[in-house]
Amino acid sequence: EETIQVKELAEKMNISPNEVITKLISLGIMAGLNQDIDFDTASIIAAEFDYELVMPLSSSEEIEEKLIAELDYEDSPEDLVLRPPVVTVMGHVDHGKTSLLDAIRETSVTKKEAGGITQHIGASTVNVKNKEIVFLDTPGHEAFTSMRARGAQITDIAILVVAGDDGVMPQTVEALNHAKAADVPIIVAVNKMDKPEVNPDRVKQELTEHGLMPEEWGGDTIFVHVSALKKQGIDELLEMIALVSEMQELKANPNRNAVGTIIEAKLDKSRGPVATVLVQKGTLSIGDAVVSGSSYGRIRAMLDDKGKRVKKVGPSTPVEILGLSEVPNAGERLYMVDDDKKARDIAEKVRIKNRDEHLKATQKVSLDDLFERI
Ligand code: GDP
Ligand code: MG
Repeated sequence: EETIQVKELAEKMNISPNEVITKLISLGIMAGLNQDIDFDTASIIAAEFDYELVMPLSSSEEIEEKLIAELDYEDSPEDLVLRPPVVTVMGHVDHGKTSLLDAIRETSVTKKEAGGITQHIGASTVNVKNKEIVFLDTPGHEAFTSMRARGAQITDIAILVVAGDDGVMPQTVEALNHAKAADVPIIVAVNKMDKPEVNPDRVKQELTEHGLMPEEWGGDTIFVHVSALKKQGIDELLEMIALVSEMQELKANPNRNAVGTIIEAKLDKSRGPVATVLVQKGTLSIGDAVVSGSSYGRIRAMLDDKGKRVKKVGPSTPVEILGLSEVPNAGERLYMVDDDKKARDIAEKVRIKNRDEHLKATQKVSLDDLFERI
């Protein structure tokens, strides 16, 4: 718990300690010159004198920040190589997000494979003219909100699906706002073009009102007409994704300790905690020690999006991992560390930090109650 001496607080604000003591009394707090007052009380006093107190990081928060800086360090530009783009599909319910993802997966597999492939994890890698594109099944808005809240940006491109017969709907607007806030380029897929009642120009008109002006109208948003049902326009959509990703010059260093983000995780009855992680930097291999929040362990096995066992994976690869001590949170970062002892130490520090945060939250409530009574 952070505290400050009455004397010190007065000094910082350049106000006589007597004035501070008088203010404290008016709040019902009897405190002498050398008495420690807690951070919240000090903030209230400070506000009375038009000062704002900035919460110093707790020691556990500081430790975590240092650790992250150490594990998720910036790479030098010369170590970076091109990596595949990571794409999320967003849009209003029933506009065809799932159907579009299915159509993309089906058109990308060879005839021989088709039918034999079952979706294994919540992400898939698709091959387009020998270039890979990674699609996340996570609903776009979740990918943006929960993950961004944890400081992780996982999506490079957003596909905004709009049913051509239905037009722009509330969740369409919500989705495009999330993508804009995250500064992620948007490609619009006007879907259900097989239906006779579609009106793609109306979709363009409506989206223009939300700042997405089609290229043919002088703007810079790419619109592609598709039918997920009839599998039409899928190749063009994939080409546009490849084009936009080329312009972004997405890069990562494959030769470093891996850093990734948990896409989804669950407890499997026979296999224990199972997590799908998107590796974003570095290379993750079987046997590597990893930590994600308060979960840690050694990678016991890895499976790719087709359910095939793999030994090591590089940047922009979604894989299912086994070997964690507990189920991590979706959106949490995953770090590879040098050995399991270190992984366990970090996980323990995070656990303490989480507990501290919980305590702080409950203390805050009781303090507020106290002031209300006064
Ligand atoms: P989601 O809620 O956005 O994931 O939408 P779905 O993929 O579940 O599709 C909702 C409904 O629209 C389903 O009944 C689909 O069969 C239908 N649908 C999706 N794409 C098309 C399309 O291109 N044409 C037509 N006619 N129907 C489609
Ligand atoms: Mg769906």
